[in-house]
Amino acid sequence: MDKPKKPSPVVNPWVKPFWEAAREGRLVYQRCRSCGTNIFYPRIACISCFSDDLEWVQSSGKGTVYSYTVVESNCPSAFVDDMPYVIAIVKLQEKGVQMLSNIVGCDPVDVRCDMPVEVVFEKLNDDITLPKFRPVALK
Ligand SMILES: [Zn+2]
Repeated sequence: MDKPKKPSPVVNPWVKPFWEAAREGRLVYQRCRSCGTNIFYPRIACISCFSDDLEWVQSSGKGTVYSYTVVESNCPSAFVDDMPYVIAIVKLQEKGVQMLSNIVGCDPVDVRCDMPVEVVFEKLNDDITLPKFRPVALK
């Protein structure tokens, strides 16, 4: 039996710049030119003032784990080989920007809230490269 394929994100037109940047190894988010509010996930209008004058800004790619869970059982069949894996909300350094992603590059038991993390990019297919996060090595 063929292994089930992992699902690929649906790329709406206004989200294209996000996925194009990710393919190039850059993490971007939107900022409102009218009021300065940072916006993530991508929208067609500002979440604060409803202006559609939005620009794309590059993120530092650095943040902290806001919350997380370790998936150890009952995941969708395409992800069975990845278990145990970590689903996390990462709070980026840029005010108001939070992303749902995975923590990779460490043992899931070592993940903690407020742990410093940085973005890494994992190619899913020719169109989609997923931003994920790994612990920042403490010096
Ligand atoms: Zn605004």
